[in-house]
Parts: sequence; C-alpha cells; structure tokens
Amino acid sequence: MDDRFLLIRQLMVDEQLRPRGIKQLNVLEAMLEVPRHAFVPKDELEWAYKDAPLPIGCGQTISQPYIVALMTELLQIESCDRVLEVGTGSGYQAAILGQLADKVHTVEIIPELYQRAKEALNGLGYKNIHIHLSDGSLGWVDGAPYDGILVAACAPSVPACLFDQLADGGKLVIPVGSKGYQQLEVWERQNEQLFRTINIAVSFVPLRGKFGWR
Ligand code: SAH
Repeated sequence: MDDRFLLIRQLMVDEQLRPRGIKQLNVLEAMLEVPRHAFVPKDELEWAYKDAPLPIGCGQTISQPYIVALMTELLQIESCDRVLEVGTGSGYQAAILGQLADKVHTVEIIPELYQRAKEALNGLGYKNIHIHLSDGSLGWVDGAPYDGILVAACAPSVPACLFDQLADGGKLVIPVGSKGYQQLEVWERQNEQLFRTINIAVSFVPLRGKFGWR
C-alpha cells in the first residue's frame, strides 16, 4: 500500500484521537491503517486527514476522523461480529468497520456515492464489506441480526426496524435530534430489553428514506 500518508495518519491518531480519549487498540490500529485519502475527492486530497468533516459531493460529507473513531469504539466490535452501517457515503467508515468485524453490510441511498464507494472499497481489496444501493432507514434484513449497527446520518427518531435487526447483546449508535443538532445515542439490546445512553452532541447530514426526514 502507498504509505506516503502514514506519518500524517500517525499524527491524526496521536493528536486528534488519543487526546480525546479513544483508547481501544483495535480502533486506533484501524484508524492508522485505513488510507482515508483513498476515500476523499481528488480536490480534497490535501485535507484528507484534517480534524474536520469534508465534502464528498451530492451535498454529503465524510465524518471527522474523531467521530468515525468514537462511533466505532462505542460499538465495541469483536472480530466475529456482523455489522451494519447505514449511510456509506465515501466508504471510509465501512472500511474501518471492515478492519474490525467479520462481516459488514453498508447501505447507501445515492447511486453516485454508492458507485464511488464501491470502487474505493474494491480498489483496496476488502472482501468482507458488502455494499448495497437501497434505503438504509429500513436496515438490511438479509444480513440481520447484527452485533453492531452504525447510522451515519441523523434521524428524527430511531427507525424501529433497526431495533428488530439488532442481535441480543448488540449495540446501535445513531445521531438523533433535529436537522441541525443531534445527540449521539447508544442503544444496547439485552434479553429483549433496550437500554439507551447519550454520548456527545453532534451534527450529521439528514437520514432520508421511509423512516428518515421527509
Ligand atoms: N459514513 C460515511 C459518511 C456518511 S454521510 C463516510 O464514512 O463517508 C451520510 C450518508 O448517508 C450520505 O452518503 C447519505 O447519502 C446517506 N444516506 C442518507 N439517508 C440514507 C438512507 N435512508 N439510506 C442509506 N443512506 C442514506
């Protein structure tokens, strides 16, 4: 792999992630390994590792590295896990999940982004990431149940079908709130009960589709 960016990725981990409390080793390793620059548009290349979200076209963004790491850490992924991501966007978050989990399903609703993410992920040789062009507010039934579900777009409330697709002991991380401001919610399913904790305030692009914003 082209490692011109390795040093800059190390700086991203040491200056953006560790000081903010990201400490799971598998998450830090994945953030060090995955070439984020392979997922950003060419004219954004020099900003690929910036401490900020970046535009990826179609009015969408690739999340800030810290937010990607935080959401991944909150899922507490193990190597045997099956994971669903709603909102593939650039494919970067899916690649991080693919480094950690056994199998990842990721769903994107915009055809152009789906196509680009597919090319980026194939180009890097990921075999355990399955990308689908579909409405992810319905989840992805064929791969369920999931040990982890990560929603990368903000919802007015949690789509009930995502709870249905969560395995016992599984975790769901999702930004919930208004279009401009949300709380990052973490849900855990234990013996048919759902427990919620609230993490930090965030600002994500809106979830579209049947159970998103109209
Ligand atoms: N995880 C992405 C960033 C996601 S931005 C990354 O690493 O780059 C949010 C994405 O969610 C956008 O690409 C948007 O098109 C997509 N999205 C919004 N509503 C959706 C829906 N109902 N189903 C699938 N994808 C959706």
